[in-house]
Amino acid sequence: MMIEEKKLTKEERQEIRFIKKETMTCAKYLRRMKELDGMPEELQPFLDTLRTVYVDMKNPLVQYHQKTVGTYCVMAPQELVYAAGAIPVKLCSGNYTAFSIGDDLYPRDACPLVKAVAGFQKMGLMPVYRDCSLMAVPVTCDCKKKIVEMLEQTHSVVSLSVPAGREDEDIDRYVEELYRFIDTLEVVTGNHVTWDSLAAGMNMTGQAKYELSRFLKLKKRMPYLMWGTHILAVMNAAAYMRADSWSFHMNRLNSELEKRIEKGEKVTSRNRPRILLTGSPVIFPNMKIPLLIEEMGGILAADETCMGERGMSDPSVVVDESFDGILRALANQVIRPCSCPTFVNNRERVYRIRQMIKDYQIQGVIYHVLRGCLVYDYEYQLLEEELGKMGIPVIRMESDYNEEDVEQLRIRTEAFIELIRLKQAA
Ligand code: SF4
Ligand code: SF4
Repeated sequence: MMIEEKKLTKEERQEIRFIKKETMTCAKYLRRMKELDGMPEELQPFLDTLRTVYVDMKNPLVQYHQKTVGTYCVMAPQELVYAAGAIPVKLCSGNYTAFSIGDDLYPRDACPLVKAVAGFQKMGLMPVYRDCSLMAVPVTCDCKKKIVEMLEQTHSVVSLSVPAGREDEDIDRYVEELYRFIDTLEVVTGNHVTWDSLAAGMNMTGQAKYELSRFLKLKKRMPYLMWGTHILAVMNAAAYMRADSWSFHMNRLNSELEKRIEKGEKVTSRNRPRILLTGSPVIFPNMKIPLLIEEMGGILAADETCMGERGMSDPSVVVDESFDGILRALANQVIRPCSCPTFVNNRERVYRIRQMIKDYQIQGVIYHVLRGCLVYDYEYQLLEEELGKMGIPVIRMESDYNEEDVEQLRIRTEAFIELIRLKQAA
């Protein structure tokens, strides 16, 4: 007797196709990252985290039995989430498969990052998204504004009004937003945020920032210490790791890199052009530009992006140790040094990039613009003029969340690297 196979519904077929494509793409990018020579052994836990989330489609944070809070911008202080006894998870997305779903839901000119978020939301298959007890959305650009309503269909959401300026009154207003964020966190987690729990939250991220600063010092000493693509993997993995676990593994990675410096070991012996990557966020698995830089003969020596170093490097300076004083320090930390172009006056970004060019001996800058990310695109011209004065070549690279533009990006990256080489030889 023939066993009749169950006919799948359209939704079930779509889910199967989604999982297959999503896992295949992410596994491919992880493989390409592993194929770069000289991968430090201690990088493995970070790659494993990305694999757990995107290939095994599991939530690595369930082991802690704590609630998780999704955040959609570095301007939602993680310290407050830890203070409420929950774990923050960064949910800005770089996923091509989710983007292809979100592309049908959002206007054509919306940026791929929010389309990918919408795609994950619609499919409801990713545990790191699905499991969140709360979503925190700092409202920065128009695209972020518009995801609030969509997220509310499935989750509790708190939106935080981010000021457009960095004056004292802007900080005052943001402190009030942070009090509101705490109120929501307390309702969702059932925990009270106290001075002690806030101090513990600050310690949690303080340790991670210390390890990152240790790492950045090492990298300034030796630009060829580690591939920039691997560094971005470490920073991306931080989105899905509890800060103490990330710090633990970062400490081990730093120790391995210190030994490399003692032995004079580098990932490449060639004098590769040193490139700085800035612009729209670079989020796993959308690693095509970092990989192209390093596969085409350059080295990604530094990045000025908020899923990279910028997302964690700004220290909090507590002058007044009262509860209110600590909140003020957090508001200052996420607003004042932030070089995001959603602020009205963003000259800080130019100063920061100029400093990074000196610190990391940069020879060329790639300016990444996600299609539809107007805020970053606006600032290209100013940076191009400033870098022109310094004699640093810069190229604007627009890309989307698919692989259709890879060949074109490859040709442009190769030509840019060649240009820097010719400049070096002249
Ligand atoms: S680019 Fe700006 S708005 Fe986007 S996550 Fe970074 S800081 Fe937030
Ligand atoms: S800052 Fe750019 S990439 Fe980020 S959400 Fe806004 S438009 Fe998208």
